[in-house]
Amino acid sequence: MTEQEDPSRDRLKYHFAQRVIHQARHVLEVWQRLQRVEWNPGDMAEMIEANLRLLRYAERFAQTEHIQLAQDIERCLQQVRANRGRLTSALITDLNQLMQRLSRTGLRHSDQFEQTSLPPLRKPVYLALQDRERAERLVQQLDFFGLSAQSCDDAVAFRAAMAERHPAVIVMEVDFDGNGVGLDLAEKAQHGLEHKIPVLFFSHEETDTPTRLAAVRAGGQEFFTGTIDASSVLEKVEMLTRTAHYEPFKVLVVDDSKAQAIHTEMVLNSAGIVTRAITDPILAMGELAEFQPDLIILDMYMPGCIGTELAKVIRQHERYVSVPIIYLSAEDDLDKQLDAMSEGGDDFLTKPIKPRHLIATVRTRASRARSLRARMVRDSLTGLFNHTHTLQLLEDARFRARRFGQPLSFAMIDIDHFKKVNDTYGHPMGDRVIKSLALFLKQRLRKTDHIGRYGGEEFAVVLPDTDAQAAFKVLDEIRRRFAEIRYPAQPGDLSCTFSCGIAELGEDMGIKTLSKEADDALYLAKNGGRNRVALFRDTPEIL
Ligand code: GH3
Ligand code: MG
Ligand code: MG
Repeated sequence: MTEQEDPSRDRLKYHFAQRVIHQARHVLEVWQRLQRVEWNPGDMAEMIEANLRLLRYAERFAQTEHIQLAQDIERCLQQVRANRGRLTSALITDLNQLMQRLSRTGLRHSDQFEQTSLPPLRKPVYLALQDRERAERLVQQLDFFGLSAQSCDDAVAFRAAMAERHPAVIVMEVDFDGNGVGLDLAEKAQHGLEHKIPVLFFSHEETDTPTRLAAVRAGGQEFFTGTIDASSVLEKVEMLTRTAHYEPFKVLVVDDSKAQAIHTEMVLNSAGIVTRAITDPILAMGELAEFQPDLIILDMYMPGCIGTELAKVIRQHERYVSVPIIYLSAEDDLDKQLDAMSEGGDDFLTKPIKPRHLIATVRTRASRARSLRARMVRDSLTGLFNHTHTLQLLEDARFRARRFGQPLSFAMIDIDHFKKVNDTYGHPMGDRVIKSLALFLKQRLRKTDHIGRYGGEEFAVVLPDTDAQAAFKVLDEIRRRFAEIRYPAQPGDLSCTFSCGIAELGEDMGIKTLSKEADDALYLAKNGGRNRVALFRDTPEIL
């Protein structure tokens, strides 16, 4: 028996792999906690300890990527210690990037057993639904989008699954396995847990308020009634488990008092919130465009401009209409507060404010604004950015490219002969192809790239800090891979291709010209025979 074939050796490897995964997940969980509560020295110590363990296990199992990440995290944590335990915006941003990478890092491919991709936030979803068939279908649909789901047959199976492992989310029918039993099961499942597991409740019938209240108490984050469809479950699960949760909130502080601004920043940083402060309100619009905060904290009285005036100016820009504005002021006159609110503000906090109160207000406002915005800017079929928002992102990217002297590319993608797909396989199959291309792009492009659904079967990608050649390489690879996918279908398996046009931002170019050029390039690709990527050329050659 050769070394490779020795089953006990494989088991040992598997054991270590599990340990690396477990530790990485622990690190990520502590990090995630920071997005919910303020970190205390205990959490900090737990993070340091968990990360050092990760480093040790990763070294023993020779996982170079994990070793590197754990070392980088340790370096950041040392800086936090050197800063007397205080987080800063820069450290939060660095740590967050490392955590994002950690959450995406799988174990090394070359190992004997199947690659165990690291599912730290990819714990399974438990489904507890009366309609077994429906549940199985949901499992499949969630699986298609890379979420592992597990359907439980009855209360006993649910309890067994819970004892085995805690899921990321529970989808629970109120009357699962008996009248009101589901509610009870979910409630009991939360007992003794420091952090509740989010539950999405479902009921066939409209329900009364006591039931809804009980659902909230049992960790209910959402209540579906009538029918339950995969896309709304998906959307919710994604929101609860994915990176959205991970992206720290960003807050712009506008205060003429430097001392007050620093204080506000320190309080927010301690809760993992990234801040930027300006003391001159005139600079606010520029900062807004560049920093893209989730929320703005405005000092009420500043020389040269009062908070409400600035709020009005901000609100005049359509894209900042939904960014929450919180006034911070010593003002305690209720009438004036109400006036301020009616002029574009969302909340009014009086100084001195308790740190916890400030943090809680910022978190609640920012997260509501985020989910509202997500609905406004995203396409419902694919979850990608919609046309309008894609163009806004392109405009922002152009702004940054100019400012930092970096290249910027814009790509347009159109599925080839898509009409035939619909005609031959039906519209639902067409939808499925659109969704899968969306997912495909999401998985293969960088996090800094913006992917939009431009129209029916057209997509657009904004690639910051990327020149046309580099964009070509990436998209051509995606094109080749996409063409290899075989979708099981009747009358025969289906495969699809797409064409893509790319243009790079030129001197003094606006986004209208840029997108026109990408469109021209797409036309070239279609004309050249489809299933190809074309770059924009000033003088199109005769093909
Ligand atoms: P080509 O781009 O290669 O020139 O050919 P095409 O067949 O893709 O051409 P065209 O862009 O004219 O057709 C697009 C078709 O996509 C028309 C429309 O019925 C279909 N379509 C648009 N949106 C959707 C959608 O959301 N779902 C499905 N299933 N089909 C859609
Ligand atoms: Mg088209
Ligand atoms: Mg097409």
